[in-house]
Amino acid sequence: MAYKRFFKIENKHYSEKTKKKALRQGRQLTVYDLEGHPKFKSKKDVQQGFYHREDLGHLKFKDNKVKLEKIGWVKLAENRIELQTANKFYNPRIKFDGFNWFITVGVDYQSNNNNNQEYSEGIGIDLGVKDLAVINDGRKIPNINKSQEIKRLNKKLKRLQRKLSRKYEKQKEGGVNRYKKTKNIIKLECLIRKVHKRIKDIRTNYLHQETAKLVKTKPEFVCMEDLNVKGMVKNHKLSKSIQEQTFSEFRRIIEYKCKWNNIRFIVADRYYPSSKTCSECGYILDKLSLSTRKWVCPECGVIHDRDINAAINLMKYGKSA
Ligand SMILES: [Zn+2]
Repeated sequence: MAYKRFFKIENKHYSEKTKKKALRQGRQLTVYDLEGHPKFKSKKDVQQGFYHREDLGHLKFKDNKVKLEKIGWVKLAENRIELQTANKFYNPRIKFDGFNWFITVGVDYQSNNNNNQEYSEGIGIDLGVKDLAVINDGRKIPNINKSQEIKRLNKKLKRLQRKLSRKYEKQKEGGVNRYKKTKNIIKLECLIRKVHKRIKDIRTNYLHQETAKLVKTKPEFVCMEDLNVKGMVKNHKLSKSIQEQTFSEFRRIIEYKCKWNNIRFIVADRYYPSSKTCSECGYILDKLSLSTRKWVCPECGVIHDRDINAAINLMKYGKSA
């Protein structure tokens, strides 16, 4: 039933009233392109949200409910006591990820950072394709995109997307870009969004777990290389954009977790040759191809694992920074 209303909307821009109605009903709004056709392919476009006024009179948390301007009380899935006692909210934002509505607010709160914990030695982290990250002590964080579960979900996604495009093809109406949306197409699109979300959730959860483990040991500093360097890495097997997204997300999360824990976060200069330098004697190779996983230093004869060597160099960089 909800979808009927959804298709009656022809306007490219939704009124505030419509958005709020959708929020109350936990329902999604279609995003239309400039010609007025619904856009479904990009996952990004499914994301919707709007800002809320900051003042307390209009935004209130009580028990497991939140009072929103013009909408009224909305039940929350999670009850946060600190929100009920907050005296100011910063930048409230309401977002829809395709399934659930989220509200995010910033609040002031007393941080209870206990600085008496001893720091351990600083670490260098090398980001890679085979493993997501390698630490200078040899620890490796595997690439989640290569896990069985993600591979399975990606396969499933591809299959569903093929199915969807076939269905659209069948619904083609005379004109070039006119399609009739059938119930089956809507169902299929919902399923595709669900798989996308599952993949995203697994990936995010993984990044949080792994970065938390690294920060927990409270290293004196964390040193990483400039992401622009890694951005140039050609990757044929996996989508490059997914890889880059994972890198920047990893870096973003670890950076703010370091900040929270008073750990120095260092980014090496983008021209620092972390992979080509021998971590034993400092000899710098002229060239090191991307496929070379192990190499022998011509100066001192030490055999290097490419990633661990780079991570050791980054650790040294951080020490002298
Ligand atoms: Zn050497």
